[in-house]
Amino acid sequence: MSVFECDAFQHHESVHFFVDKLTGMKAIIAIHSTDLGPALGGCRMVRYSNSAEALTDVLRLSRGMSLKNSLAGLELGGGKAVIMVPESWNNDPKYDGPERAELFRAFGRAVDSLGGRYITAEDMNVSVEDASNIRRSTKYVVGLDTGMGDPSPFTAQGVFVGMRACIKRAFKTSSFAGLTVAVQGLGKVGWRLCEDIHKAGANLIVADIVDETLQKAKAEFGAIIADKDGIVTTSCDVFAPCARGGVINEDTIGQVRAKVIAGSANNQLSNDTLGVDLHKAGILYAPDYVINAGGVINIAPEVQGVIDHKWVAMKVAGLEQTLGEILDKSMTEDRPTNEVADEIASRRILDARVKPMQAA
Ligand code: NAD
Repeated sequence: MSVFECDAFQHHESVHFFVDKLTGMKAIIAIHSTDLGPALGGCRMVRYSNSAEALTDVLRLSRGMSLKNSLAGLELGGGKAVIMVPESWNNDPKYDGPERAELFRAFGRAVDSLGGRYITAEDMNVSVEDASNIRRSTKYVVGLDTGMGDPSPFTAQGVFVGMRACIKRAFKTSSFAGLTVAVQGLGKVGWRLCEDIHKAGANLIVADIVDETLQKAKAEFGAIIADKDGIVTTSCDVFAPCARGGVINEDTIGQVRAKVIAGSANNQLSNDTLGVDLHKAGILYAPDYVINAGGVINIAPEVQGVIDHKWVAMKVAGLEQTLGEILDKSMTEDRPTNEVADEIASRRILDARVKPMQAA
């Protein structure tokens, strides 16, 4: 497996591989950039088929964190960690045997060895309790129950206001009433988002792999249930991917019928050039790392040891304007939204890099 030759390797500052013999932990931490500050990004635990797949994932995600933290105006760089689910856990990332706590403690030691260049938090299949176990070995972890808490409600709130910025431009209205929104994935973010969308008067189409959740959405929101993959190309006004990445790919792109794509999943486009195709097709795409920044905004004060809910509320509400400016620039300059967002985010990182060092 090569690192530098990997397509997803884009001038990352460093990539670190960790193994803990006792717990079977295999983890990769990628630090994309520390130009704006220490690299902040969550840790996810996934059943990867091999380490090359884990590497590609962590490289794409860590770059995404650099861009996300930059555009959100945070003094933080971008990094990410992935842990491969140990085979001894029957490949179940939610396994809750006694070894789980020890594995996250070992991961904490790995994070600590980087001396604060990388700060971790929860992500997919890594809970607040797992974060507490990481905290037993390192101070470089946020999103603890003693801190700013679960970031998901803030991610959902950011997606909702970002979706409104898209609706304003695509349908010339700021009202959700009468629109149809298709949400893929009714987890911590997707469910909260559905609550807001339902309250705002839109119709919901939903998909998930858990039938019980779907039945609950049908009962509570009058949602129509769609196939988990078919929902990507279902007839609707807005499609919100809130489950996994890569749902807009070579196979699905020609069949998307929504006018807007706005959801929380990271890396929604399987590759960046698909943004060009969406733009040409007149589909307004909210770049994922812009619209899903609510969660990282929520945990950012904790890095400074501060609890500041007022600041978080103000910053998350501000995502509507940040995204709106990107969408407007994309329309004025006739360029894909993801290209515009990348440019603005990268510019801030580059400016920080070339700033002369302050004299001591
Ligand atoms: P989650 O694990 O709580 O929810 C994911 C949901 O998707 C679950 O209900 C799961 O059953 C469902 N699902 C899984 N595979 C599916 C499939 N093939 N089709 C349909 N549904 C499927 O995760 P979450 O915290 O709600 O995050 C959702 C997405 O948003 C993830 O991609 C995550 O990386 C991203 N994200 C989350 C946050 C956050 O604050 N939680 C922040 C930024 C980005």
